[in-house]
Amino acid sequence: MPLHVKILIGLVAGIAAGVVANLTGAEWLRAALVALEPVGTAFIRLITMVVIPLIVSSIIVGVSSLGDLKRLGRIGGKAVGYYLFTTVAAIVLGLLLANLVRPGSRIDAATRDALAEQFSSEAAAQSQRAHEAPALKDTLLNIIPRNPVRAAADFELLPLIFFSVVFGAAIGQLRGDSQRAVIGFFSGITDAAAVVIGWIMLLAPYAVFVLIGAVVARFGFDLLGSLLVYAVTVLVGLALHQFVTLALLIRLLARLDPREFFRRTAAVQLFAFSTSSSNATLPLSLETAEHKLGIPKSIASFVLPLGATVNMNGTALYQAIAVMFIAQIYGAPMDLAAQLTIVVTATLAAIGAAGVPAAGIITLIIVLESVGLGGRIESGIALILGVDRILDMARTIVNVIGDLTCAAFVARSEGELAN
Ligand code: ASP
Repeated sequence: MPLHVKILIGLVAGIAAGVVANLTGAEWLRAALVALEPVGTAFIRLITMVVIPLIVSSIIVGVSSLGDLKRLGRIGGKAVGYYLFTTVAAIVLGLLLANLVRPGSRIDAATRDALAEQFSSEAAAQSQRAHEAPALKDTLLNIIPRNPVRAAADFELLPLIFFSVVFGAAIGQLRGDSQRAVIGFFSGITDAAAVVIGWIMLLAPYAVFVLIGAVVARFGFDLLGSLLVYAVTVLVGLALHQFVTLALLIRLLARLDPREFFRRTAAVQLFAFSTSSSNATLPLSLETAEHKLGIPKSIASFVLPLGATVNMNGTALYQAIAVMFIAQIYGAPMDLAAQLTIVVTATLAAIGAAGVPAAGIITLIIVLESVGLGGRIESGIALILGVDRILDMARTIVNVIGDLTCAAFVARSEGELAN
């Protein structure tokens, strides 16, 4: 049975168990799912454990084989251009939907205050974390690591990618034995990482079952009623972005059949959904790009880690709708200028969000502040927190698929896509 079918079975069974535990009040089942959750956490840790050695070694092997530096610059330029374009497209789509549906105008003041009250302490903790985030200038400076080992230890992927790309490019300039020795070493590490991932993936269906089961068992279904229109607006936006915008780009730029593309990336999508983490999904996306989509390692190894760190189409779209929703609830008018501000700040907020669960709701604060909702941060976040995990799972799929479509486009444009 293919892996994605097994993961799908785990997912469906997990949802079913979670719903039963949640709605029938079967306390033992709920307790069992929550007690098993560490199995899911162990799985995410195992896969995350591979990320640092894998991205360092695969970028070094991939970039060193690109040949000349001009090619590296061209590929990087295309990837960054594509990432910016799709991020802005996602935000514009989110804004269009938010203006059309106006999800916030459907919530009365009593529900609003009840939601804000219920999640106030959690929201305060999130906004505290956001205020600890560095300013934009420092964020840019931080791309250059003072110490790559520290960057790796702190799981700071962008500086680590920067370091690996520079060293990969330099290794590409070496000749003879020293080059062969370094590349041989790092390609051995990428091969070993693939073996480890193969082992870990055997656990995926079970891990997905407990991860999803625990989330659903805990989910406040009573909240869904009041936040339903908002949640559905985000989900419809995500679906439109993935199955219309990205599908068009797959067809026009990567010149692939979108249906086939989505079929081949099914396991990646299920994985992103179950883990809510672009970082944790990265090893599987790298493997899928190479073995299922025919994207050469030299391109995938550079474009995908960069995308997992900076490109978050789903997060950007969600942030646009979330800010509009909060503004609508509090009756704050959002004119064209404010919405253009959202385009700029949600782009930055999505770039700044790490590829981990709930990162998007933290950097949402940047967007709220930019449009004068700084006084509504905690209550605004409290309003949407109840359904955030589900939306996080869905937006992570779009984040990861956005990266893969970019890698396919770049490979095609370089005349190197095997399919
Ligand atoms: N969980 C998302 C990701 O890893 C980020 C977010 O919270 O939007 O891609």
